[in-house]
Amino acid sequence: MCRSLEELRGNCKNCAKCGLAKIRNNVVFGVGNEKARVMLVGEGPGENEDLLGEPFVGRAGKLLDKMLESIDLNRDKNVYIANIVKCRPPNNRDPSEAEQEACIGWLRNQVFLIKPRIIVCLGRVAAKKIMKNDIKITKEHGIFYKKGKILFMATFHPAALLRNPQNKPCAFEDFLKLERRINTKTLEY
Ligand code: SF4
Repeated sequence: MCRSLEELRGNCKNCAKCGLAKIRNNVVFGVGNEKARVMLVGEGPGENEDLLGEPFVGRAGKLLDKMLESIDLNRDKNVYIANIVKCRPPNNRDPSEAEQEACIGWLRNQVFLIKPRIIVCLGRVAAKKIMKNDIKITKEHGIFYKKGKILFMATFHPAALLRNPQNKPCAFEDFLKLERRINTKTLEY
């Protein structure tokens, strides 16, 4: 277990614990405020993210930024964004169970160091891995669960919203619920 995010990032950069190491351009470790109360977790980097080394930088990332801005959150200011796997699965396929299992330790260490009060799972893969295996995003999005000291909520992955824009109003509603939670006293340190 690393005691600083800088040390963790350095170690993660050299990770070869699964086969994705051989085909990546960059390890996409995470971005944002290292003391953020809110952390967002997606499934894994896509093509743009792999090239630039930052999560959610393509069209889906722009949509995510817009949704965050609508509730006064910003990756440069007050959230931290990471993924279940740090290297890009080929052809944007879902990361396999084995890849997720190999990689999840990095995310656990990130959560240990950042100590978010709320974790938002973006999409099915992240929600299944972090919240519960049988989660159905279409039914259970926007519902908060408490585990230990952390509140968890799942919502639609922004890339899925680009494919199915009819779900955007529901996703925006989830973000409004998130805003209300952020503003409650239960999030105070
Ligand atoms: S996906 Fe994760 S476990 Fe696999 S090589 Fe990249 S950092 Fe390591």
